[in-house]
Amino acid sequence: MKNFAIAAALTLGLSGAAIAQDKDWSFGDGETHEHWGDIRAEYATCDAGSMQSPIDLTSPDARGDIKLETRFGEASGKLALAKQKVQIDFTPGQGKGMTSGDKTFDLLQVHFHTPSEHAVNGKRYPMVAHFVHATQAGELGVLGVFFTEGSENPAIDALLKAHAKGNGAALSVNIDDMIPTDLDVYRYMGSLTTPPCSEGVNWHVADVSVEASAAQIAKLSGALGPSARSIQPRNGRLLVAPE
Ligand SMILES: [Zn+2]
Repeated sequence: MKNFAIAAALTLGLSGAAIAQDKDWSFGDGETHEHWGDIRAEYATCDAGSMQSPIDLTSPDARGDIKLETRFGEASGKLALAKQKVQIDFTPGQGKGMTSGDKTFDLLQVHFHTPSEHAVNGKRYPMVAHFVHATQAGELGVLGVFFTEGSENPAIDALLKAHAKGNGAALSVNIDDMIPTDLDVYRYMGSLTTPPCSEGVNWHVADVSVEASAAQIAKLSGALGPSARSIQPRNGRLLVAPE
């Protein structure tokens, strides 16, 4: 599937149902190569691609603060649950999103992984939120935010209350509760971390984590199970780290 088709499917809210029914792959232990390309020809990029995600965010080629503006705050949506998936599909038309450089992205959904997929200098965090966006032209942009154990997080509280109601539960969260106050990001070009592993994804990963309580992280981890793809080779890709 081309990126555009995926973005269109996400925009139309089709991804949850389609993936839930079709899911024929699984995350492994997060260390061993998954070989998703062996499952279906459509997943060949997962193994053959040279710009795959996640990567270890280490030894940046350059340091500089990427110009990134977010339009988040309170947002409503619906919970989409499946095996190894906890996701909020945001109701379209709320004007949420981010502008990175000269690209304007609309926010589609946020989902979680336990542990984090990207690592920083070889270290993974207990949890990550991936805010998935697309431009009008269908180019994907993701903002990743790591979680560490600390204070209870009100957005995760709302998520867990909806989770108790089940798939399709309506909820409202303040997205800013999941975003560092001082948002600076690592930036590189990568891929979806799940089949079909399409490339051309504009990755942004916050260098400062946010907090959720140990109990909250444990609950999400219990719902998701191991849900991180193995670290992929960087293959000489440009990585810009914050100042
Ligand atoms: Zn993800």
